[in-house]
Amino acid sequence: MKIDQELGGLTLDLVNIASVSKDEKAIADLVQAALSEVKHLKVSRISNSVIAQTNFGHSKRVVIAGHLDTVPANKNFPGKKTDTEVIGLGAVDMKSGVAAALKLASQLSNTKYDITYLFYEAEEIETKYNGLELITKEAKDLLKCDFAILMEPTNGIIEVGCQGTLRFEVGAKGTRSHSARWWNGENAIHALTPILEILNSYKSREPVIDGYKFREGLQAVKINGGVAGNVVPDSVTMTINHRFAPDTTPAQAEENMKKLFKDFNFQLMDAASGAPTGLDNELIKDFVSKIGTDIAPKFGWTDVSRFASAGIPAINFGPGDPNLAHHPDEVVKIKQIEDVYTSLKSWLTA
Ligand SMILES: [Zn+2]
Repeated sequence: MKIDQELGGLTLDLVNIASVSKDEKAIADLVQAALSEVKHLKVSRISNSVIAQTNFGHSKRVVIAGHLDTVPANKNFPGKKTDTEVIGLGAVDMKSGVAAALKLASQLSNTKYDITYLFYEAEEIETKYNGLELITKEAKDLLKCDFAILMEPTNGIIEVGCQGTLRFEVGAKGTRSHSARWWNGENAIHALTPILEILNSYKSREPVIDGYKFREGLQAVKINGGVAGNVVPDSVTMTINHRFAPDTTPAQAEENMKKLFKDFNFQLMDAASGAPTGLDNELIKDFVSKIGTDIAPKFGWTDVSRFASAGIPAINFGPGDPNLAHHPDEVVKIKQIEDVYTSLKSWLTA
């Protein structure tokens, strides 16, 4: 893999190195080898995450981060390239962002801030495998910075903050009986009616935070119940996902949901906090004004929240349409990768 090539070619090279979560050794080896040849970088490795730092002696440090892993292939590996696009697994999420970050790492030998380039493993799966978690545990100092840019796909605009997420189960109980003699039983699935009514009548809260409108959500995502084709079921559980704006903590969100579903068994499964917009931070203000693209709130949960929890303001900014992330037809415009690269380069050097 040659870093010093045009960004479409570099993105395709990265797409064609298989790196489904937990299988990032090959790509991490190549990234580490390529960055180790760059004179102005000090390269470290934690498991299959590669960290490359400049040490120019500036007082402020910026992290530029991208994950190396992808979701499993879906008839979209290996990838291909046309004159204008790169197509294939991870082209959007997020090998094109990684390509731009790699090229910045190799090209920028003189920047306004010190930079930590972070290429990490296992973003697409459970938190316990996430490369950022591992670095936090094993070498926290490598993540020290004043501002983090996460190059997740945003279609080349700046996405600020992110919404939090809460998953919980609510259940209903009944009494089992033969379905031919149903009057002897009490159907737990039928008892879901009031839960469905709550879900259907839920009015999404749309708070405006620092001028940006977030949009909360409450969606049933799974249902578990039933015994056999001739049995009135005695138990059912529904998994519900609540997305909440960053002005609400996970504990508050849990309280709100417990109140809403107070008549049903409530079981919290997991929760992750959102992230504030960070628009009160001087570096983010400067970045936003100089990059000059549209700004939107981030609805999905990203590792921006992990940085925010560590007290580091962070934003999402990267090439690729987020609607195509994890889609079998991932495709990214080479011009957009170049635009993101150029914007970052001029902000970091001007
Ligand atoms: Zn991603």
